[in-house]
Amino acid sequence: MEYSAENTAAAPAPSFRSGFVVILGKPNAGKSTLLNALVGERLAIVSEKPQTTRDRICGILTTESYQIVFLDTPGVIVPRDRFNEALVERVDEAIADADILYHLVDATDEEPPNERLVEALEQANVHTRFLVVNKIDKLPPADRTRIPPHIDPSRYDRGFFISALLKEGLDELLQATVERLREGPLYYDPEQITDRDERFFAAEAVREKIFHYLGEEVPYSVFTYVEEFQEHPDRDYIRVVIYVERESQKPIVIGKGGEMLKRIGTEARKDIEALTGRPAYLELWVKVRKNWRKNEFDLRNFGFKVAPRKRQK
Ligand code: GDP
Ligand code: MG
Repeated sequence: MEYSAENTAAAPAPSFRSGFVVILGKPNAGKSTLLNALVGERLAIVSEKPQTTRDRICGILTTESYQIVFLDTPGVIVPRDRFNEALVERVDEAIADADILYHLVDATDEEPPNERLVEALEQANVHTRFLVVNKIDKLPPADRTRIPPHIDPSRYDRGFFISALLKEGLDELLQATVERLREGPLYYDPEQITDRDERFFAAEAVREKIFHYLGEEVPYSVFTYVEEFQEHPDRDYIRVVIYVERESQKPIVIGKGGEMLKRIGTEARKDIEALTGRPAYLELWVKVRKNWRKNEFDLRNFGFKVAPRKRQK
């Protein structure tokens, strides 16, 4: 005879909780740094230059009782070209999925957010909004719990003061987030820490080094694309193409006697190996794709969604 579990008097198992947290803020606020700190891995590339993040990247934190999917976003800006429009579109996608919103603000930034960010913050259909003031390590101790003047605290459920870089204040933020999670499914495998694959990280590793080593303008003109990624028992073979917008940018990326390209390759390879845990051979090519940021066809090819252009009146 079968035994009915309903008859047992044991308390019901506590339900599993889960949710999506979208991290919004201006470029350079520290969104990618925060994502990496929360998940404990370097998933998103970080740089001192604004607008490093182009894709929506998620970091997943799973325990026995909950799963949080953090969504990093490109900083919200007022788009000036087709490429930037595509970036803003990525942000809208992330907001549409979210349950909880973190508005990440640089504590030292006195400028109010731009209209596009204000709009995104207001329209987000989330059940919880947290104000997260970052980079408090840059302020004297007395100012570390100061709410920036352009922020209206009544719009948020709670406020936090953190340093994503020094991993300060993160426990409190995380705990409050867990408390706000609602009953939900396991969206991702418990072992998974991101929805991105190794190809994506290979392309991003190369792009990060370009941001790191090259001057002001070139990094924004670069798109990195993995043409080949073969896993081999002894050593993976990875070929990445670095697309630049203009012929004149090619020698800058390559450097004198190929020195710059070599440095980018060596450093990116180390990061890729650290992430995959396997030795890799990384081959880099530099090619020109004229004005890819403005070209809808190229943007689509590179995986950006491009909305049809609005008709000019
Ligand atoms: P994002 O554009 O919002 O993703 O910002 P990033 O995460 O790329 O960070 C932009 C810059 O701010 C980088 O140079 C980071 O090292 C720096 N940064 C991020 N968080 C902190 C922080 O808590 N304190 C300080 N001092 N710098 C930070
Ligand atoms: Mg970023």
